[in-house]
Amino acid sequence: MKILLVEDETPIADFARKGLEEQGFTVDVSSDGEDGFHLATTQEYDAIILDIMLPGRDGISILKGLREKGVAVPVLLLTARGSLDDRLQGLNLGADDYMTKPFYVEELVARVHAIHRRHTGERLTIRTVGDLRINLLTREVWRGDSPIELTSREFNLLEYLTRVPGRVYTRTQILEHVWGYYFDPKTNVIDVHIQKLRVRLAREGEDREAVIQTVRGAGYRVAAAEAAAP
Ligand code: CA
Repeated sequence: MKILLVEDETPIADFARKGLEEQGFTVDVSSDGEDGFHLATTQEYDAIILDIMLPGRDGISILKGLREKGVAVPVLLLTARGSLDDRLQGLNLGADDYMTKPFYVEELVARVHAIHRRHTGERLTIRTVGDLRINLLTREVWRGDSPIELTSREFNLLEYLTRVPGRVYTRTQILEHVWGYYFDPKTNVIDVHIQKLRVRLAREGEDREAVIQTVRGAGYRVAAAEAAAP
């Protein structure tokens, strides 16, 4: 999941970013309201964590601007203790949740998961694709009855590719969402991770592209349910 964190207080931003990254999120941080708004309207995020008091442009104005532009990304507001007006105004303008500073990062992670699930309509924490089962909260994966051990990056890659089975995800999309890169690193980092993921998911005697298919010149896709069945 890719998150935009707009927060000008460096200690809070660093702490939140670290906590989110430890849970497998890819995080872009902006410390300025104008810059944050620009990122929010030009990049694709799964959720935005938005401080209210910001230099350049405040969080409420950013939220209002996003909703006016039809950007429906889930937004969690960070508010100062006691600022009830900000919270009410934020919720009225279409914020999905808010947290009062200071906060526990575990709670922030749980709430970001929750607003994202509400937004995507994915009420279940277990995603099933063919014979794959992916627990989005505990980050456990099974194929049939066999648990599959994945690194954090491999899990993020699998989570991204299984969002819409059958859909082709381009290398650029994968780099942005799974690695947080906005440039081509000119390496085979994606191919290497796809290969590792295929090995981990593989069943004996199975075609190597049984779960993750290469679409030449386009990208990768996870087979839609019927095709992925054993
Ligand atoms: Ca602030």
